[in-house]
Amino acid sequence: MSNLTAIDLFTVGIGPSSSHTVGPMRAARRFVSELSETEHLGSVARIRISLFGSLGATGVGHGTTNAIVAGLAGADPRTCDPVMVSTAWSDAVASRHISVAGLELPFDAEDIELRPMTRLPQHSNAMTYVALGADGETLFSRTYFSVGGGFIESDDEIGDTPASSADAALPFPFDSGDELIALCESTGKTIAEIAFDNAAAVYGAGDVEAKLRDIWSVMTNCVDAGLKNEGMLPGNLNVERRAAGLAERLVAQESADAPTEFANEWLQAFAIAVNEENAAGMRVVTAPTNGAAGIIPAVGYFAERFKYVDRAAIERDFLLTAGAIGTLYNRNASISGAEAGCQGEVGSACSMAAAGLAAVLGGTPRQIENAAEIAMEHNLGLTCDPVGGLVQMPCIERNAIAAGTAVAAVRLALAGDGSHKISLDTVIETMRQTGVDMSHKYKETSMGGLAVNVVEC
Ligand code: SF4
Repeated sequence: MSNLTAIDLFTVGIGPSSSHTVGPMRAARRFVSELSETEHLGSVARIRISLFGSLGATGVGHGTTNAIVAGLAGADPRTCDPVMVSTAWSDAVASRHISVAGLELPFDAEDIELRPMTRLPQHSNAMTYVALGADGETLFSRTYFSVGGGFIESDDEIGDTPASSADAALPFPFDSGDELIALCESTGKTIAEIAFDNAAAVYGAGDVEAKLRDIWSVMTNCVDAGLKNEGMLPGNLNVERRAAGLAERLVAQESADAPTEFANEWLQAFAIAVNEENAAGMRVVTAPTNGAAGIIPAVGYFAERFKYVDRAAIERDFLLTAGAIGTLYNRNASISGAEAGCQGEVGSACSMAAAGLAAVLGGTPRQIENAAEIAMEHNLGLTCDPVGGLVQMPCIERNAIAAGTAVAAVRLALAGDGSHKISLDTVIETMRQTGVDMSHKYKETSMGGLAVNVVEC
């Protein structure tokens, strides 16, 4: 994957999963676009899709089949109607039709084949799209990989060594935490300023500012919606939403004399609110994944409400610093639960949130790096074992706990002067190695851990 700027890790999409919902929807759109460029489109009689590895194992619970049917019809994760997407697959099965580039094609449930026991060598999240002719002959076929955070790569892109950030014509390229700190020290700029200048070189300063405002607006809308919405989450686990009830109790307990007394409880409620919206398939910001989407908004909201940080500083310094740290995880380890387990998702988000909070509370670049390091250090080894293949248990509570870890990491880092024994780069490399060593049972396959020990009811 090529280098990303700090804002690229935040994309507006829908729940419940960046790799299993957003990525497959983008892949379906891309397949239709590539098919449309061939001479075969008019001869297509049927589309068949195979979902391999983790996508085959947890794809139904993660909304993959809905996302694919909606994506084939042209839905975009950023603008689609989440309610329409949530029934796209069952509607297609019931009507026995799908829409593809203006064509109405026959469709059966078997046209999306689940192959959880087959892992393609390139990546665990693989999907092959095939366009068939009237006699069942293959007209056009593409395999895509959902590599984390909603990003997809085709079979001729996957495995490319990321270009050095110096190749991307960025004014302040960095490939490691040490390089980032050295840049801050040599230029006198903050991490957020370096991240802004790099992103502005790619998108233009005005677009970066607009995107940051949009990201924070969608994040806060998501928190607010999650604190209000009640009822059961989708799926057969019968999980009831809790955030609204938590908020109601906190409001009843609060007193004007001690407005920050329940700050930590609110922090947890904010994270749960976002992850319940995500589990319900609603609009969220991938940060850096959907399963971990609650941590960064919760910590930012906490900073705004209980640390009295200006919204402008949250939009700029908090998000840019978090994003800069996220690019290091994306480049040097993984943000994909299917590749690195939950340490890649929740661990990375926790580390990013800690960095962002340390920045807006006045931390130096070394203290920020320290906060990011502490936060990941205590997520190392975290497995991915979603019960029932749904992004609910342990995911929702895990975001609340990780938000607390991020705040605790910042407290520790700001109590020191930034000097510490274990560097962020060391902990990122340790996370990568731990992910490589981790059994596939704990990489978003629901074949181990809580997923096999919790009785579904
Ligand atoms: S356990 Fe972690 S990595 Fe796995 S689906 Fe849940 S949040 Fe994502």
